[in-house]
Amino acid sequence: MGACESFLYGKEPETVNGANGQITKGMRVQTQYTIAEGGDGRWYMGKVTRLYGNNRCRIYYDDGDTWTGNAMEVYSMQGPPPSASAGAPGMPPVGGVPMGMPMGAPVVQAMVVSQPVKLPPIPSPTPADSNENTCPVCQVNKMDMVLQCGHRLCGNCTKDIVEKRNGQCPVCRVQITQVIRSYN
Ligand SMILES: [Zn+2]
Ligand SMILES: [Zn+2]
Repeated sequence: MGACESFLYGKEPETVNGANGQITKGMRVQTQYTIAEGGDGRWYMGKVTRLYGNNRCRIYYDDGDTWTGNAMEVYSMQGPPPSASAGAPGMPPVGGVPMGMPMGAPVVQAMVVSQPVKLPPIPSPTPADSNENTCPVCQVNKMDMVLQCGHRLCGNCTKDIVEKRNGQCPVCRVQITQVIRSYN
């Protein structure tokens, strides 16, 4: 198998260039599964199991996933954290910055956006009548909340998303900044 891999990928390099320093085999690293790639914007940690020529590496993640890709997207746990490595392409600083922010947006602005959303009083959930549209999340209740993007949800799902989940509109994925009571 080793010979076959060498044939396919060339000789395994000693190191590859990661986002915040050199990466060697067996090193603890993290990568971000960005929203742009269809991910959840979270950081995943794992171990480098293979290095390739053309600066690629394979990671075995702690959750059992594997990934092979450009080492420039890989952050060593020994190097400076992503927030400190200024100028890394395509990498917004970690920690509460909503995805979709323009690159290099001032952190102060990001902190304003990530302040807790004020929820209006949540009415008790009412199942929608058969001729009414239902909340797109639970598909049961009337939509009695409207977000700043114009999408509507039931109060229960709005509260859940804002307080326990990612705080994004489940329809268009914009960060929720405003919630208004909607009366049908
Ligand atoms: Zn709902
Ligand atoms: Zn929306």
